[in-house]
Amino acid sequence: AGLVRMVRPWNEWLVVWGFDISVPPPVVDEDAAIAIVRNLLGMPELEVEITGTSLWGNNEAHATHLQKGRVFCAGDAIHRHPPSNGLGSNTSIQDSYNLAWKLAAVLKGRAGESLLDTYSAERAPVAKRIVERANRSSREFAGLFDALGVTDAKTEAEMIERIEERKANTPAGAAKRTALAAAMETKNYEFNAHGVELGQFYTSSAIVSEGALPEPARDRDLYYQVSTLPGSHLPHAWVGDHLNKRAMLDIAPYERFTLITGVAGSAWEAAAAAITQELGVPLEAVVIGPGREVTDLYFDWARLREVSESGALLVRPDKHICWRAEELVDDPEGALRKALTSVLSR
Ligand SMILES: Cc1cc2nc3c(=O)[nH]c(=O)nc-3n(C[C@H](O)[C@H](O)[C@H](O)COP(=O)(O)OP(=O)(O)OC[C@H]3O[C@@H](n4cnc5c(N)ncnc54)[C@H](O)[C@@H]3O)c2cc1C
Repeated sequence: AGLVRMVRPWNEWLVVWGFDISVPPPVVDEDAAIAIVRNLLGMPELEVEITGTSLWGNNEAHATHLQKGRVFCAGDAIHRHPPSNGLGSNTSIQDSYNLAWKLAAVLKGRAGESLLDTYSAERAPVAKRIVERANRSSREFAGLFDALGVTDAKTEAEMIERIEERKANTPAGAAKRTALAAAMETKNYEFNAHGVELGQFYTSSAIVSEGALPEPARDRDLYYQVSTLPGSHLPHAWVGDHLNKRAMLDIAPYERFTLITGVAGSAWEAAAAAITQELGVPLEAVVIGPGREVTDLYFDWARLREVSESGALLVRPDKHICWRAEELVDDPEGALRKALTSVLSR
């Protein structure tokens, strides 16, 4: 058995083929690789060009600490898991976004060195979660084979016969269809696990905490819990003006801190400008509302922001919210200074 994935339409493919791990690994030279492809496709004459081969095994390992001295690890080096759920590349890139702005801030003298400790604190729990989810999804594939009844089939003919049984208008056929539907339901957790994909919530000294997210009303793996509670990723909404539709995520770019408020919170703008000057930290305020460069196009942002119109959200360069004010305070500059110096370990 194996699988064929398209790399470029329609002449470049990735062919994955399973081998018995209870015996020493096979030598996959060019001839062996060509034989695998032809056998898998049932096309003995097919012309094949092999561009590369490698042996690869499912892993279930994650690091609990991601830094030693000046060395920081990211990506597959700290979370090793099967491709199920597609959590490899994206979470590896997230690791880098989490680390990059912290390294830059420390190297430029804008943050205390202990900011770097927050990389492990924030990303190691993510590594654990994705490794557990991907491996569970991988194991749950067995349920599909069990439901079809092919796990202990001895021959190809027996396998086909058992698979075909699902079409029969018999009690056994009906039982197989029910079992198959139940097994397929577990795959929802592989292909639609938005909570795992989008729901990274950080707890560390680079977040001015208001506590943990409340217990979710819906399944935490399947559903992404949208929130502006410090530690959450900035939620998505469409904003802009009559000519330009912009994503909230683009309002808070990677190269600076962004303070997001509403028209009634305009005083935060001057506070942000003063604190940028004072601390030498790139920070800009964005006021969202009518008559401003960024308007709340569909009134979605007002529904999502979870603070009043005069309140503010402080967004880190990696687009995670690190502090929020429910409403405008008497001394916005002081409040912002306190939050930012705390986040930056200054
Ligand atoms: C079959 C398969 C399917 C996948 N499907 C998906 C998917 O659908 N979606 C998804 O998001 N992810 C998928 N992934 C996972 C994804 O490919 C990885 O998570 C991602 O590439 C990890 O990136 P990385 O930079 O951490 O590591 P890598 O991409 O492995 O990069 C590490 C680099 O370091 C180099 N290197 C190693 N040792 C040294 C050394 N000593 N000196 C210098 N360089 C060195 C390597 O050559 C390599 O280029 C899949 C993986 C596999 C195997």
